[in-house]
Amino acid sequence: MNRRGLLLPTVVALVAAAALVGVAPAVSSADDCPEASGVIPASALASPVPARACDLPGAVVAAGPLAVRVPLREGESVTAAGSARTGHPATLTVERRSGTVRARIRQPDTGPTPRPRPPVSRMGRAHGQPSDEPAAAPTSAPTEAATVRCGDGAGAWLGTRWNGTYRWTMRPTGVPGYLGAVGPVRDAVRAAANAVDQGHNSCGLAGDLALSQRYSGETVRDAGINADGTCGERDERNVVAFGRLDGGLLALTCLWWSRGRTVESDVRISDAPNMFTLNPAAGCSGSWDLQGTLTHEFGHVFGLGHVSYAEHGELTMSDGLPACTANFRTLGLGDYQTLKGQYGTT
Ligand SMILES: [Zn+2]
Repeated sequence: MNRRGLLLPTVVALVAAAALVGVAPAVSSADDCPEASGVIPASALASPVPARACDLPGAVVAAGPLAVRVPLREGESVTAAGSARTGHPATLTVERRSGTVRARIRQPDTGPTPRPRPPVSRMGRAHGQPSDEPAAAPTSAPTEAATVRCGDGAGAWLGTRWNGTYRWTMRPTGVPGYLGAVGPVRDAVRAAANAVDQGHNSCGLAGDLALSQRYSGETVRDAGINADGTCGERDERNVVAFGRLDGGLLALTCLWWSRGRTVESDVRISDAPNMFTLNPAAGCSGSWDLQGTLTHEFGHVFGLGHVSYAEHGELTMSDGLPACTANFRTLGLGDYQTLKGQYGTT
């Protein structure tokens, strides 16, 4: 297991109905179509391009490790946000509106002068730097980290929320054998969902967020996410499933939404050997805490975006997550406050 990957290799993909504001530029000819062979680079869609004339619906648009499929329906959009082990977290948005398709890439705002990283022990190295030093031992007493975590109010919002209960199922097929029996794996995933639902935190904040989720049992369905990290078409089912993920991804969350309302969300978790552990305190070496990783993913499910590792590395929604720590099973101040700002409290 390489320890180079410190950035949390997760990707969030969103499918959105574009708000009906403004009028798209008049683009009606196919003269400006991108080269239509295979995957279309997002840079080729920096300006609106006619959707039908260029045969774009269903085409895959990629930017680095991120890829989204142009929605088949007019008025919908797709956003992929995330980071890979090699770093460079970005958000890729593909909008289909007013007869055109447009792609936008956005790097997270790291601010003009990132403050120094808090002095906490971490496993691995950030931003794909060479792993030429021994990893620090896992720490179970991150007092200083917790202080930072409970004093950092940063958060990012993806632009969509669940209006009702997020009801999800999990596919037991595909749970990798190294994790052992399915039961404890499912329990870890459920605990992660509960942590976001109930606003678990170690900052003394009331766990009264007005959002809810419900585990609805097992499913034979797969998540609508391809191994190459592209969100597929939605199928009206919210599925969490293990499966192959390329590009060093730990997990991938896709959101499909319309006018600020999420209508579906799937999560795919990498089944790569020894990627995760259920107990990072027990002889962990280069594996990520499954529960903490899924807490981050369910944060995406409920609409949280990434904050930069460089500035907010102690928050659960940081785009970097160290291996071998269980510190991210709950919410930090900014994670909690962002959800509270969107959902309110009960
Ligand atoms: Zn993420």
